[in-house]
Amino acid sequence: MKIVKIKNGWRFKIAGEPSLRLETRPPVTHVASVPWKHPFVKPRLSIEKGDLVKTGSLLFYDKNRPELKFLSPGGGTIDDIIYGSRRIIEAIVIKLDSTEARESFSSFTQSDIESISRDALIAHFMSGGLWPLIRQLPFREIARPESSPAAIWVTLGSADPFQPSPQIYLKDRADFFELGLKALSRLADRVNICWFDDGSSISVPPYPGITHRVTGKYPASDPGVVLYHTKKSPSENHDWYMDGQDAALLGQFLKTGLYPVEKIVTVSDGIPDHGCHVKTRLGVRLKDLLNHPLPYDHSRWVVGGFFFGYTAGPDQYLAAGHASLAIIEEAHSSELFGFVRPGFKKLSRSRTVLSALGTLPLPVNADMHGEKRPCVNCGYCADVCPVTIMPQYVFKSLYVDEMEEALACGLLDCVECGLCTFVCPSKIELADALIDARHRYHKEMNQVAESV
Ligand code: SF4
Ligand code: SF4
Repeated sequence: MKIVKIKNGWRFKIAGEPSLRLETRPPVTHVASVPWKHPFVKPRLSIEKGDLVKTGSLLFYDKNRPELKFLSPGGGTIDDIIYGSRRIIEAIVIKLDSTEARESFSSFTQSDIESISRDALIAHFMSGGLWPLIRQLPFREIARPESSPAAIWVTLGSADPFQPSPQIYLKDRADFFELGLKALSRLADRVNICWFDDGSSISVPPYPGITHRVTGKYPASDPGVVLYHTKKSPSENHDWYMDGQDAALLGQFLKTGLYPVEKIVTVSDGIPDHGCHVKTRLGVRLKDLLNHPLPYDHSRWVVGGFFFGYTAGPDQYLAAGHASLAIIEEAHSSELFGFVRPGFKKLSRSRTVLSALGTLPLPVNADMHGEKRPCVNCGYCADVCPVTIMPQYVFKSLYVDEMEEALACGLLDCVECGLCTFVCPSKIELADALIDARHRYHKEMNQVAESV
């Protein structure tokens, strides 16, 4: 087992970490697919409002890559198709019926997987709607099967303690996980099983075949970060990766021949003892994840992580690829003489705020504690960046439209963790600018590839 120690990053000290308690909720009435959260996908609908669908029926596919299919997370009636600005499809809502009929697919054993061809296995995952779970670096798009990655990284555990623990999602599912790994080993030369060891007393390897043990601060567990610190050749830049929970879903699909809808999600509202794991299903409505009133009059719901997730409302749905819901207080206070107060309870990396020196978890809210201003060259963003690029220089290059310069400064190494924005005392949206530039560059590269 390789030991990978990541130095840069930020130690999470946010109150309300979900415990390892696993709860259930009453059966849900609605689930949804959330097309706009699939990266680089232009959805073309295969259904319309009022249609009857089974669990695993085709809902939409990608206009640019029609082989990418997205299936229904439930059986019932298409209740609504919700459009956002510029006709973006925000959600396809399914009202579940009592029987929830399911599409069926071929099932496979370990020995079937050994004898099936790589192309046939890929086609099976494509038609079964599981392929979008596999992502490709550096752009984090859905994996391109025509490429041959040097390795597939399967991550177990996260340096963000608000993400689900493999101790929970692999419990009683080791056989599915094994089968998923077996299938992944047919798609690449190597499968790296990367475990994030948080160093706590209960931290034990959740699986015997770990290949990489990673330690460090957020976002040390990110496959892009681990790859950056371990790669030996540029050919590894396009490695694939997936989450351990999703690898178990691959195995479940292969073994049962049914589109899997089970999901373990963490839920936290910042109050110690409230946070827990919840056994639920894909595309769950966010308010269906709660079982108690919120402690705030106004709240912000963050899906998928404090730094790289998205904000949503209680009536919106959990997008694929996300497995956490954190609810924080929506606060925009103007603190009198706040600039001279020592700040024992403010979450910050700056050592001018005394909480940065402590180790106790602190409550977090949506207050920005200040306004945007020019860069003061403090260097905090570079200090925390896990891939040792200088975000402020990349940002400045992009600001003057110097893409070549931004690429030379490491734009493609960015793992989109959002940490530089969080620590910036000038409130500059560095990560958003870098992510937007990466997406534009990816689009241009694809257009060039299509034109030749
Ligand atoms: S540039 Fe910012 S978002 Fe990108 S990896 Fe560095 S800290 Fe994370
Ligand atoms: S953290 Fe913000 S203010 Fe400091 S160097 Fe980076 S961009 Fe500039």
